[in-house]
Amino acid sequence: MYKIMTAGPTQVRENVRMARSLETTNPDVDTEFCEFYKETCDLLRDLVHSSGTAYILGGEGILALEAACASLTEPKDRVLVIDNGIFGKGFADFVKIYGGQPVLFSSDYHRPVNIDELKSFLEKDNDFKYATVVHCDTPSGVINDISRICPLLDEYGILSVVDSVAGMFGEYVNVDESCIDILCGGSQKVLSAPPGLAMVWVSQKAEKAMEERHVPIASFYANILTFKTYYQDKWFPYTMPASDINGFRAAIDNITAEPDIVQRHAGIAAATREAVTKAGLELYLDYGFSNTVTVIRVPDGLTDVQILSLMKNKYNVMISGSFDILAGKVLRIGHMGENANVRDMEMTLDAMDKSLTELGVTLKCSMKEAFSEFIRCR
Ligand SMILES: *Cc1c(COP(=O)(O)O)cnc(C)c1O
Repeated sequence: MYKIMTAGPTQVRENVRMARSLETTNPDVDTEFCEFYKETCDLLRDLVHSSGTAYILGGEGILALEAACASLTEPKDRVLVIDNGIFGKGFADFVKIYGGQPVLFSSDYHRPVNIDELKSFLEKDNDFKYATVVHCDTPSGVINDISRICPLLDEYGILSVVDSVAGMFGEYVNVDESCIDILCGGSQKVLSAPPGLAMVWVSQKAEKAMEERHVPIASFYANILTFKTYYQDKWFPYTMPASDINGFRAAIDNITAEPDIVQRHAGIAAATREAVTKAGLELYLDYGFSNTVTVIRVPDGLTDVQILSLMKNKYNVMISGSFDILAGKVLRIGHMGENANVRDMEMTLDAMDKSLTELGVTLKCSMKEAFSEFIRCR
């Protein structure tokens, strides 16, 4: 068995696994399930300070992104796709699938979106129904300041769709203060339930935009409006995955029980960056590091596969490489959710110390020791 230290799916705590094994019910008929679902959605709503509605959808995190685009996009709608990462750019595909016209605002993948540059762009062109932005773009680990980006969009009457699948709970999110219209989440990142569920938070403005469409939403499964009257009707659009939601709820209770969860992530992330750079390795980003994942350049002369296989096969720690334009270039340690603890990070950095040394890299210090030292002195 390996220690899973990837940027999602993450390790799953025992109470979440136990909750998934509880006796199940018929979610369509059992009104207690409907109450349980609503209560869980209301907890979700409050955790990110939203006055809108939260829904749990039966599908992996990508469903949240697709549902947001499916539910808002009408043919020929212009949609601003804020692109400074692989997931950021990927939104253009969803916009196109539903007949919209994506307009990319692209910037350097090594840093967060520059607010002044976005401002100048919007001064010239702001005729967009909505914009998409990724909070933490996991392949590079960049964090975008949604608390400034979304209010700026709002000034121009542009709705915002935010992918915080890999940010939320490890990074502070305030839906109302940041004027976020649709927030997207997934079960397998900081929340640390297994993959299989998506979450969406929908503002009243976004709901209105969906209701005032001229052309019907071109999907059933990705149509957020189908959930609108579930509680009143005690009827879900499709049978809800009860065991997944039982586990999910235990994970939500874990998050609720830890008010300092963002600080935990910030501490682990800072110590990781300190350790990696002190040892002489290079981070992928110039600045704008997320609390949930650290992305390191593959040292010259080595491949990601060599390092990943040695870490996994000899030292039992599984981290990951990246994909798309970052394939082969970087290594990623996912210190999110259940992974973000001192013991597991020490094990990970120790495995990396040993693997890199065996592969001929001269480290300036032990990353494990630098990490522990940073944590002790904080
Ligand atoms: C994990 C993740 C998703 C969900 O996508 P999968 O790759 O299918 O897990 C969406 N957006 C971001 C930023 C993610 O990190």
